[in-house]
Amino acid sequence: MSETAKTVVIEAFGGPEVLQLRDLPVGDPGPGELRIRHHACGLNFIDVYQRTGLYPLALPHALGMEAAGVVEAVGEGVTHLKPGDRAAYAATPPGAYTEARVMPAAQVCPLPDEISFDQAAAMMLKGLTVDYLFHRTTPLSRGDTVLFHAAAGGVGLIACQWAKSEGITLIGTAGSDEKCALAKAHGATHVINYRTENFTDRVRELTGGKGVDVVMDSIGADTFEGSLDCLKPLGMMISFGNASGPVPPISIGILGQKGSLKITRPTLFTHIADHAACQAMARRLFGKVTGGEVKIRIDQRFPLDRVADAHRALEARQTTGSTILEL
Ligand code: NDP
Repeated sequence: MSETAKTVVIEAFGGPEVLQLRDLPVGDPGPGELRIRHHACGLNFIDVYQRTGLYPLALPHALGMEAAGVVEAVGEGVTHLKPGDRAAYAATPPGAYTEARVMPAAQVCPLPDEISFDQAAAMMLKGLTVDYLFHRTTPLSRGDTVLFHAAAGGVGLIACQWAKSEGITLIGTAGSDEKCALAKAHGATHVINYRTENFTDRVRELTGGKGVDVVMDSIGADTFEGSLDCLKPLGMMISFGNASGPVPPISIGILGQKGSLKITRPTLFTHIADHAACQAMARRLFGKVTGGEVKIRIDQRFPLDRVADAHRALEARQTTGSTILEL
């Protein structure tokens, strides 16, 4: 196939201005691959880390990790999807900001008819992340308490609803009173505006001085220490992002001093590397959405050629819920 597709690439790391729209050849799928025509792509903070070089890529490189569309062709050995199937994914390598692409098939999932392409593009990476945070990282049971930062964001609003559906008390932080109200409306039990309140003091107050069982911290540099101080003895710190910058190196002894704390630094891509595990996680996510327990909220839409504006809005903390790029 000699067709080309409009695709967002970077040739250098930097600000949103390095994002360029190019016509690139699409090609045919080889063994284990498929060709998919996208209907929408999702925007994620990881795209910013890759654009800036915080998570380095070999340049030039296409960007984007999440999309939904229709399978056009499959290569040898691909049996879980066929041409004409609706499908969605969160997957490596980056390259989802495009009209069509050839990619490894293992992480591409059959998409139920009840879920629209826009919804799917807005939720695959974020929803599978919530799935592994709540089900595959540390045991969590009904009645446990979790502190979740950036609770009104893309991952955050899904996490609020997920926690509620599982009987978990979620204390959400967010950067404005409006964002706090949004997180609360989506199932957060308590909310804290961490721009106006000391979230550590407030968490201690809300938990009667005990602290929380688990912190899910994607803010990084600005919140890491305060987050550790929110944990109960034996509590678990899940540091899974760096929206404010990477966490500085720590001395491991601090975990002992603060009460035999545990810490992990997971990534979604370890959890979905196995084909069967990825498909099972996607089925659980789809079940939450089709069952009405989790609603996918798309608060921003940008055409593909305005991807730089989408990045600017995400980095400036101007977005809530999910953002999609329309094709
Ligand atoms: P969000 O929609 O949550 O956007 C990021 C939010 O972080 C902002 O809206 C803002 O919310 C908050 N924030 C706090 N400080 C800053 C800052 N200095 N600059 C920018 N934002 C800041 O993004 P996503 O839903 O795409 O991702 C959420 C987080 O989860 C990201 O850090 C991402 O990297 C991480 N992640 C990690 C994964 C993993 O497997 N490790 C997988 C998926 C996501 P507010 O104004 O309310 O503070």
